[in-house]
Formats: sequence, structure tokens, C-alpha cells
Amino acid sequence: MFDEIHEECGVFGAYQVENASSITYYGLHSLQHRGQESSGIAVSDGQTIQVQKGPGLTIDVFKREDLESLKGNCAIGHVRYSTAGGQELENIQPIVSRGHAGSIGIAHNGQIDNDKELRLELENQGCIFQGTADSEVILHLIMKQTGTLLERIQKAAAKIDGAFSFIVMNEEKMYACRDKYGLRPLSYASYGDGYVISSETCAFEVMGIYEHVDLKPGEIVEFNKGLVKHFAYTQDTSHHMCSMEYIYFARPDSEIEGINVHAYRKETGVILARNDEDLEADIVIGVPDSSLSAAIGYAEQSGLPLETGLVKNRYVGRTFIQPTQELRDRGVRMKLSPVESVVQGKRVVMIDDSIVRGTTSRRIVRLLKESGAKEVHVRIASPVFMYPCFYGVDTSTRKELIGARLSVKEIEDYIEADSLKYLSVDEIKEAAHGLGLCCACFDGKYCSDLYSYKKQLEEDVSE
Ligand code: SF4
Repeated sequence: MFDEIHEECGVFGAYQVENASSITYYGLHSLQHRGQESSGIAVSDGQTIQVQKGPGLTIDVFKREDLESLKGNCAIGHVRYSTAGGQELENIQPIVSRGHAGSIGIAHNGQIDNDKELRLELENQGCIFQGTADSEVILHLIMKQTGTLLERIQKAAAKIDGAFSFIVMNEEKMYACRDKYGLRPLSYASYGDGYVISSETCAFEVMGIYEHVDLKPGEIVEFNKGLVKHFAYTQDTSHHMCSMEYIYFARPDSEIEGINVHAYRKETGVILARNDEDLEADIVIGVPDSSLSAAIGYAEQSGLPLETGLVKNRYVGRTFIQPTQELRDRGVRMKLSPVESVVQGKRVVMIDDSIVRGTTSRRIVRLLKESGAKEVHVRIASPVFMYPCFYGVDTSTRKELIGARLSVKEIEDYIEADSLKYLSVDEIKEAAHGLGLCCACFDGKYCSDLYSYKKQLEEDVSE
């Protein structure tokens, strides 16, 4: 299997927007990099909520006639990569629950820490769950509270710990909510007479929207008949935006908390080059796609020419699993091809965003050397990956992370690089210009309690 980290999920909402399901479809299309396992849209015509969802890419799940039949001017959508909960159809979002007081739909990005405890509590109170996703726990928790829908979301959000950016709708209103640590991004913008909400701002730009508002940690935004109101569900907030959103997940054209993702990555490349003043090399190449911005920064700072030394085949499946080493090697070749005429006889600086298990890095270094590269110096635009994520990112356990087992020198030998350097945690924070970041997968400093996952982490660490 490719040793990649997997994106989490993407959410999109359209409130009081004509053809809301079509707008949501285009929004999800822009967020597809955040999840390719399933896609879904729930739409309200003011009376009822209709939902359509299924496994696969947004383009495969929805045909034109589907969107025409999903009528209404309020919709929420979701693209998914499963972290908490399995790949069962029941876990595909949006999840809609129909009660005596009407219907509520939810689309959630993140992973909550206390889902097992809350699920048990809710089951003891008589709740019946259809699937295993933590998003269904949030939905049941909201349904169980008393008061207006806003009050119920406020009470439910205060009980949940961990990472969540979710959108909730009933037949008439829509709410966007972000966890108190600000782990996952969520923004909204005005669009025509209504509003759109998205995990990433790249979805706004395809609609010609260039101004947006980021939800603050611990905030709920209510969209109700043309009015937007902001509420805090807690005062106990902090700022721990996932650093991997900047390093790897988000699209370079997205802006998160005022920082353009491409600009952030470029700055990490500048810092890598600053640390390399004595290195003698001929060219800089980036591993496509997420490392190209950092490679630009490295080239600008170092004065070395930036070259296209690796070409990515975009049509190879992302979850490409092969049973034998030979087929796995061929898989890497199918996905990434070195440009022989560029790298032959050159001392190459290869910029990558991260090393998870190390097997892919080793194969890329080998490919470059087989194509004639004289030296390959690997520079990683993030710190050493040492701890698992419990906030909605599918990472390996510690024993599978090469950074948790080997020193940087040992990893350098394993991947057969001529030299290897990473950034430090302080350096990725420097690139964010003072914005509070979660760096737990690098330094093990988790901002939340972790609940039952704490035991899993302790066992993992002690193995
Ligand atoms: S642990 Fe790592 S991947 Fe998870 S939220 Fe924190 S920075 Fe992001």
C-alpha cells in the first residue's frame, strides 16, 4: 500500500441559494481531495429533507437528473474518507434523522474523542444507531437535547470533545459549528441572496466568491431567513489549527485563517533552503502535487533552478493496493515517473511534504537514481512524523511510522538518500506567523483529553 496519509472529509452547505443541490455538487467537487470514498447531498424544499448518497466520487454518485430531482434552496453535502467508523453505507453522510419535531441532517468533518462514551450513554437512553460513525453520535446528541435547534446544538457541542467542523440543517435553518480548539477549518461567504459554507475556501473561488468569514473556535453560526448570527457555545477556546492542513491536505488555492496554503508551503521551502546553505546541488524538484509550492520556495531562496523531475499520473487510484513488492514498485512507477533528461547526471534536491512509513520515499529515490541522478538530497517540508492523529486524519500507529522507530540518519540510510533533513516544529510554526497550530503528530502534544484513545496511545507508545 502507498504509505500516504489520508485526508479526512469535506463539508459544504448552501443556504437560500437557487438550485442548492447543484451548487453543493460543485462545492463538493472542489473538496474532492478531502475524501474520495463517498459523497452525499441532503436538500430541503422548506417542507421535507431529501437525501442522496453513495460510495465513490461526487461525479459518479450524482447524474444531472439526480440533481434536478433534489429540489430546494437549502442543501448540505459531504465527501468522505473514513477515519472513525468503517466504510459501511450507513456511515455515508449527510446523515438525516427524522423525528416528531421534524428532520435534521448533519455533515461532519473531524473525529471526536469521546464518541465511545457518548454512544454508550445514548444507547443506554434508548438511541438506536444505524452505523458506526461518530457523526451519528453528534446527530443523536443534538436530537436528545431540549429547546430550539440552536440551543440543542449549543448543548450538544459543549458535550463533545475533539475535532469537529459540522453543518446541521432542518427544513428551514442551517447551522455551522466549529470545535473549541479550531482543529478543522470552516468558513462561509455570502452568495446571491443566501450563503455558502465550506471546509475550504477553494470551493468559494470556483463560484466567483473572494470574500469569506472563518468560524472561530467554539462558534456556532446560524443562517435563518437572510440573517446570520454568531454564537459561542463555550468561552474555553484555544487555537490549534491542524498543521497538516497547510502542509499536505488543503488545496494550495485555499486560504485558512488568513494564510494562503500555497504561500505557507512556499515559506516552508524557504526555511528548508535557509538550513542548506552549504549544500552543493544542481536542481530542485518537488514530489507532485503537494510539495511543489515548497519546492518553489526552496528554489527561490537557494537560487537553484526549479525543474519538473517527477510527473504524476493523476488517474491512478489513490487506494492502490498490491499484494507483492514487484507490483507495489510498479504501482509507484505508474503513479510517479521521473523525467530522465532532467535528472540525469544531476545532484538533485527532492522536496517532499512528509515521510510516513518510508517505503514510497525509498522507491522515489531509487527511481531518480535509476534515471541517472548523481545524488538525491531529500528535504521534508514538515517535522518527523512520530505520533498518530486522533482528530480525523488516517495515520498509522506509532510502530508503522518510520520516524517513531528510526533516527533521521537511519531513515536517510533506509530511503537510500544522499542526505535527509526535516523542518522542526518551531519552523512549521514560524511559517504560520504566530497562528496557533496543532503539531501533535510531530510532538505528541494533543490539545484535548483523548478519552479512550489515550489508552490506545499509551499502548502504542509502549510497544
Ligand atoms: S495530530 Fe497532526 S494531522 Fe492530526 S490534527 Fe494535529 S496536526 Fe493535524
